[in-house]
Amino acid sequence: MKILTGPEKLKKEVMDRNLCTGCGACVGLCPYIYAVNERVALVHSCGLKEGNCHQVCPRIELNPVEMDKQVFNKPRADHILGENKGIFFARAVDQQISENGQYGGVVTALAAYMVKNKKVDAAVLTRANGNDVPEPVLVQTMEEVLGCSGSKYSACPTLKIVSEGLKKGFLRLCVVGRPCQVIAFRKMQRLCGQNKLKCFPDNKFEAIVIGLFCFWSLSPDFYIKLKDKTAGNKTVRLDIPPNRGLVAVLENGAKVEFPLEELRPLIREACVDCFDITSEYADVSVGSTEYDPEWNTLIVRTEKGEALIKEAQAAGVIEIKQYPSEILPNLLTAVANKKARVLHGLQQGDYLRLSDDYLQGFYAAQKTTESEKC
Ligand SMILES: Cc1cc2nc3c(=O)[nH]c(=O)nc-3n(C[C@H](O)[C@H](O)[C@H](O)COP(=O)(O)OP(=O)(O)OC[C@H]3O[C@@H](n4cnc5c(N)ncnc54)[C@H](O)[C@@H]3O)c2cc1C
Repeated sequence: MKILTGPEKLKKEVMDRNLCTGCGACVGLCPYIYAVNERVALVHSCGLKEGNCHQVCPRIELNPVEMDKQVFNKPRADHILGENKGIFFARAVDQQISENGQYGGVVTALAAYMVKNKKVDAAVLTRANGNDVPEPVLVQTMEEVLGCSGSKYSACPTLKIVSEGLKKGFLRLCVVGRPCQVIAFRKMQRLCGQNKLKCFPDNKFEAIVIGLFCFWSLSPDFYIKLKDKTAGNKTVRLDIPPNRGLVAVLENGAKVEFPLEELRPLIREACVDCFDITSEYADVSVGSTEYDPEWNTLIVRTEKGEALIKEAQAAGVIEIKQYPSEILPNLLTAVANKKARVLHGLQQGDYLRLSDDYLQGFYAAQKTTESEKC
């Protein structure tokens, strides 16, 4: 059997099998890879065996043990949510931010704080585009960060602008992304550490990574349906209320609903195989609470993430409270079940590289979760 390398590997193992997550990492690194309407395609193979494109792909050879070592320098203690220093409820203190945010506005509040106080040179965010696919943006002002509030439930290739930012000399970045994007970004950082990401000045940059929870994203076909249903009225907000499908809120105040049965066929194929639901390799991860829409779930993971949260709290940017113990089993069960489904469907040669020890750790944790829920 021919061993695939370089762009050929990316095309055959990921793109041709519809396993591309649309993270955008390869797009920003290669002049021959394009993203059009959230579909990523290789238009010409450079022929290099050692290209960067396949090495940053979150769907090629993901070894969680290696990733834990790279990000946390130790094996994970939590096999369901990933290594962490604590889980909380959090929300933005500023009313404008919390009102415009998807839930508590924590992501916007943190990114705005870092940009405003020049803790980073720019933030890599995702901006809505009415009824069209959203766009990746590099932002440097608080107003621009606020303009990116809200979830866009599709796979915007946000990471494609990371290289643009680095080439502009923005060497301290805040990166906000879905779990697949966090993995791809960590892979980029790993290559940089090995001096292999040649297109970046000196191969050196710093980043704080804010990861989103994500069980799935929608394929770009969603926007065709959205345009149909909204009849030209601009969408200003999308939401996924628990077990009710998706609701689009329009500029004229009307609401358009996508019931679950209409939404399911629109889920991006690559998301079905995703083993990371809470952005396990981020500095901090943020999701909904599925309990109180004015708050976010916040998982603090790295020392860098912990320092940011303490600073933002002390500066009155976000407030934090204890995660209610009675709802923790719900989150653990939802995450463990998705992971178990992915493992069940896993086939030889698939992207996940899981050792027996790792799998044992996961199944033991899943069992504990099940018994605690009962
Ligand atoms: C595709 C998708 C699926 C999700 N699924 C879940 C889920 O199943 N369960 C759950 O608890 N939470 C999920 N989330 C996360 C949730 O919707 C909120 O983004 C998160 O709780 C942060 O809330 P916030 O109030 O702090 O957001 P805000 O303060 O409004 O900030 C949102 C930030 O997210 C970024 N962003 C928006 N859309 C995207 C995108 N498509 N790709 C990358 N970055 C983006 C923006 O740049 C913005 O900075 C999902 C998010 C996305 C994008």
